[in-house]
Amino acid sequence: MVRYVYDFTEGGRDLADLLGGKGANLAEMTRLGLPVPPGFIVSTAACRAFLATGAAPEGMSREVSRHLSAVESDAGRRLGQPDDPLLVSVRSGARFSMPGMMETVLDIGLNDASVRGLAKVSGNERFAWDSYRRLVQMFGSTVMGVDGALFDQVMTRLKEARGAPDDLHLDAADLAELVEGYQQLIHEVTGEYFPQSPAEQLRRAILAVFRSWNGGRARLYRRREHIPESLGTAVTVQRMVYGNLGRDSGSGVAFTRDPATGRPGLYGDYLPDAQGEDVVAGIRNTVPLAELERLDPRSYRQLHDHMRTLERHYRDMCDIEFTIERGTLWMLQTRVGKRTAEAAFVIASELADERLITREEGLARVSGDGLARLMFPRFDTSATGDPLAHGIAASPGAAVGAAVFDSAEAVRRAAAGDRVVLVRQETTPDDLPGMVAAQAVLTSRGGKTSHAAVVARGMGKVCVCGAEELTVDTAAKCFTTKGGAVVEEGTVISVDGSAGAMYAGAAPLVDSAVMRHLETGERTGGVVDAVADALRLADDVRRLEVRANADTPADAARARRFGAQGIGLCRTEHMFLGERRTLVEEMILARDAAGRDRVLDALLHLQRQDFVGILAAMDGLPVTIRLLDPPLHEFLPDRTELALRVGVAEARGEQPDPRDAELLDAVRRMHEENPMLGLRGVRLGLVVPGLFAVQVRAVAEAVVERTRAGGSPKAEIMVPLVGDVTELRLVREEAEQVLARVADTSGIPVHCPVGTMIELPRAALTAGRIAEEAEFFSFGTNDLTQTTWGFSRDDVEAAFFSAYLDKGVFAASPFETIDREGVGRLVGIAVREGRAARPDLKIGVCGEHGGDPGSVHFFHAAGLDYVSCSPFRVPVARLEAGRATG
Ligand code: PEP
Ligand code: MG
Repeated sequence: MVRYVYDFTEGGRDLADLLGGKGANLAEMTRLGLPVPPGFIVSTAACRAFLATGAAPEGMSREVSRHLSAVESDAGRRLGQPDDPLLVSVRSGARFSMPGMMETVLDIGLNDASVRGLAKVSGNERFAWDSYRRLVQMFGSTVMGVDGALFDQVMTRLKEARGAPDDLHLDAADLAELVEGYQQLIHEVTGEYFPQSPAEQLRRAILAVFRSWNGGRARLYRRREHIPESLGTAVTVQRMVYGNLGRDSGSGVAFTRDPATGRPGLYGDYLPDAQGEDVVAGIRNTVPLAELERLDPRSYRQLHDHMRTLERHYRDMCDIEFTIERGTLWMLQTRVGKRTAEAAFVIASELADERLITREEGLARVSGDGLARLMFPRFDTSATGDPLAHGIAASPGAAVGAAVFDSAEAVRRAAAGDRVVLVRQETTPDDLPGMVAAQAVLTSRGGKTSHAAVVARGMGKVCVCGAEELTVDTAAKCFTTKGGAVVEEGTVISVDGSAGAMYAGAAPLVDSAVMRHLETGERTGGVVDAVADALRLADDVRRLEVRANADTPADAARARRFGAQGIGLCRTEHMFLGERRTLVEEMILARDAAGRDRVLDALLHLQRQDFVGILAAMDGLPVTIRLLDPPLHEFLPDRTELALRVGVAEARGEQPDPRDAELLDAVRRMHEENPMLGLRGVRLGLVVPGLFAVQVRAVAEAVVERTRAGGSPKAEIMVPLVGDVTELRLVREEAEQVLARVADTSGIPVHCPVGTMIELPRAALTAGRIAEEAEFFSFGTNDLTQTTWGFSRDDVEAAFFSAYLDKGVFAASPFETIDREGVGRLVGIAVREGRAARPDLKIGVCGEHGGDPGSVHFFHAAGLDYVSCSPFRVPVARLEAGRATG
């Protein structure tokens, strides 16, 4: 029999797929004997069935009733019992945390009768009516689809009528009136009455949470976080406990270590006399957790002990939500806590020091993406002047942008290419699109666990929250600082999420400490040491070598400092740009072999010097030099511009510049509709006489020069865009003749392996043949992705990738993360067949994917020898190559 509902006493954290993260962890805490209000979980399988058919699966509601009965008998009262109602919360909880993205309904079980019972047993009439109005509001908007703003209007009208500055000034009678107003509103909008039956409330709330899996916010969040669409959410149903029963009650959120810096010690926010939602929503300002120690030492001590238990049990930093109901502590949620990149490195290193985890486990818990974030610059505070405002350093990094005050404006401006900072009093899940679009988020309310902080940290977005000195006026689109300065929409500000500060204008930036360490080896403790240790371990365990894509001596030198073990791709095309462009023009316009040779000779000298510099910077390490790849007309002037110049001259009755006329002629002759599939790569080598030969000669002569200077040059020659073995054979034969000639003339042996890029499906599929002529392969996954999908790599991302991501054709751009199923399969075939033909074939990758964490893991598993990526990605690739072995 399929089962859809599980009691907290039945599950555990290993069942997170089925019970969702929240449910599984509640079950785990229950098993650990921590004080968790009883409840049960409706599984993700039920949600999937509901989403597929539009109806709750057979048997689910019977199971819900059965589990509810157990909770009822434990509590000694029934759901919604008129004289003493049991109330429950209904919350979403997917496999992966999606904070605030789906729906929650609290206080299920209240109705016109049981609200009076609750008032009596709690001895607090106001509390009972406040709970009821929350239920009607949440149920009305979430389950019955009434626009939440309409409830706010009813509330505002009442507050105005009573002259109440906020809802705390409304008394029980006011709240009862509000409940009536809300119920009327629901009836007007939907034609339905707010359901009085507790069982119906529960049934409908569960389905509404299921439905919210497909809400706009949730979908956007999943797309960003690469969470599969197919998982569905579980629903936890749990006995309500109340933090808003007076000063001996309250709610809070706590971390076992600081989630921003990783420093050990309990860390969190507490809000006396409030429900959990109020803490996260940042509606009132919280107090630090240390304050709880003063307010309620017994609960604080218990909390402290429970959190120690959890950290030891999970062997990781945990975060929790808790509520104190009249002096009794309840644990409402725990999970392994989200943390900044800095905290991830520090915590992994400290837990390993404490021997709670092994060093290898520590390596698994940090990430290349996190490391990349730590390499970002920060503000130079010696040059910024005083901050305009201080707030809580909620998510680190430095960002500059124009202040905007609503999500839609952030999206609009970002789409137009502007950098923006989203400024709000506090954010709600509706602000998600604006947070995605913004460089940083700044709020005037809320703590480190507010919505803004949690979501921004998850995205790696800079965030300062709780900047109380600011008065944010979203209607007037401005904020005012304590000093009285008014900052209007569009004004550039700088947000320092590491220090919790905000500055006027664009503040100057300085390198990060981690970057300084990578450049100089300097160790300054804290996160720098944690990163250094993780990289050292990764280097010890990884099998993949990491090389860099670099084509200047400066880049090569930087890559080497970052730990590159050679150059996997030196693109030679930049050596044909700038002043040298005229040489290319002359080569194309040359009327005879002598003219062309003159140009080639000039290019030879220039290229040799380029190669000498790069080989010197990478002395002793392999340097893979790729022969010219782009179509030659890329080096010629623009066709339209030329035609215009010639046309204007002719219209004036003047003679056009003869060089312009000649060039225009050549440009027209060489024009291609599809240059990416045209005369480029190896094809150039086969049809432009002398072009590849002169490049090979420049490489060979550079090797000779470096050898004579006492160096140890290790150049390799790589042929781009080969599709057939014969293309490679022809180029290789020519190259070998040139190498032999240079060796002969100089008397210095020149050994440069000749290999090929694999960047066409045909090359991958005939890799066995190609390997007969290639001493190495390097996957050009940019072109291989382009040609496998038939996607123009220069056009499609802007044209339609967002629609493809939306529709779930792929979860990430295949130009960023390797498409394992298609392009990856070609890689697998080429590796297998290439090595079968030539067992010592060296194989690497030099497309952008070489520095992408997920792809590095794939290349490790595919058996490649190295990945090659931009210098700044080298540390990231080293770390991920180490992690891939785990
Ligand atoms: C590739 O195609 O993956 C590659 C590395 O070459 P380029 O990006 O220069 O075409
Ligand atoms: Mg390419």
